[in-house]
Amino acid sequence: MQLSRNPTRAVRIGSVTIGDGNRIAVQSMTATKTHDIDATVQQVNDLAEAGADIVRIAVDSRREADALIEIASQTSVNLAIDLQENYRLAKLVAPHVAKLRYNPGHLYHHERDKPWQEKVQFIAETARDNDCAIRVGVNCGSVDPAKVEKHDPADSIAPMLESATDHCDYLDSIDFVRYCVSLKDSDPQKVVDANRRFSDERPDVPLHLGVTEAGMPPDGVIKTRIAFEQLISRGIGDTIRVSLTVPNDRKGEEIAAGREILDDIAAGRVRSVVDYGLSTMNIISCPSCSRVENEAFVELAGQVREMTDYAKDHAITIAVMGCRVNGPGETDDADLGLWCAPNYVNFKRDGEPLGAFPYDEILGRLKLELDSLIAERAADVGS
Ligand code: SF4
Repeated sequence: MQLSRNPTRAVRIGSVTIGDGNRIAVQSMTATKTHDIDATVQQVNDLAEAGADIVRIAVDSRREADALIEIASQTSVNLAIDLQENYRLAKLVAPHVAKLRYNPGHLYHHERDKPWQEKVQFIAETARDNDCAIRVGVNCGSVDPAKVEKHDPADSIAPMLESATDHCDYLDSIDFVRYCVSLKDSDPQKVVDANRRFSDERPDVPLHLGVTEAGMPPDGVIKTRIAFEQLISRGIGDTIRVSLTVPNDRKGEEIAAGREILDDIAAGRVRSVVDYGLSTMNIISCPSCSRVENEAFVELAGQVREMTDYAKDHAITIAVMGCRVNGPGETDDADLGLWCAPNYVNFKRDGEPLGAFPYDEILGRLKLELDSLIAERAADVGS
């Protein structure tokens, strides 16, 4: 069966065009250190071999921008760069890539007195001058604080939507229409809601779909599948990324999982929806990228899953994140949240910091808090 798509506008990203009924593109992101040129080129090529249409690379510093230029010279893959606070790096790397991704929630940290519109104009002009597309990438863990303040805390999607639509309106107003949008959350149902609401408001804008911090396979693939089935079957979604916590030499699994999900949806092989929020443990972990602050993160994510197996029937969310970029925000909504720094792991319970613990002590501390949480909930039920 040919998957019918919503009539979004066409956006070209190097040799691939998304939207306007084109085949859904599958993409991924490197997790090697961007300044490790050989390892990153190897991973870009591994992902391309696995069938990636586009590969994204994080660029946070001048050193990484220089490395990116060298990486781009060694591969013909369609590259996207992922910008955080340091949006001006776009100027250095845009001549070498096909797409620039920025996060509206990260345009606040530098040059606080400068309106975000000026920063977006800079990125858009850079993209225009260098034949690049843009992705406006909104993420649940780093939403523009001005938008969060305006909305009911019970509706976490509203600030994400407003952030995305404001940026679309602004880009349209400066005649830059070669962009797509993503609205990512670690909760598959919120991904579905956010993308449906956005596509109702802006049916013309192509969407990049993803469940962020989906975790390790197989759970991470299942969570992503749940969201993609509900969206792609309704014509929503023009490019996808499956985010999995896997070691660097297994990153190609993200592409294989994405293609398998698309093939299954096209063939009508859809699974029933699993509600993670009601009766079972939900472990979310980021897919890792070059910003990971200690390679032990991937191993820790696996150890957390093994150690907590005894509690798998409890409706508790544990988040394990690889760095300070998204870690502090995305552990706020978890019952128990860990985010990894170079030498220690920050630990939160119900969004409140419990302290920072060495890597060899964190599992024990996590178990203590998990047991106490289970006991408290049992007491609440009994009272
Ligand atoms: S939390 Fe940090 S390491 Fe993990 S994917 Fe996000 S930016 Fe990369």
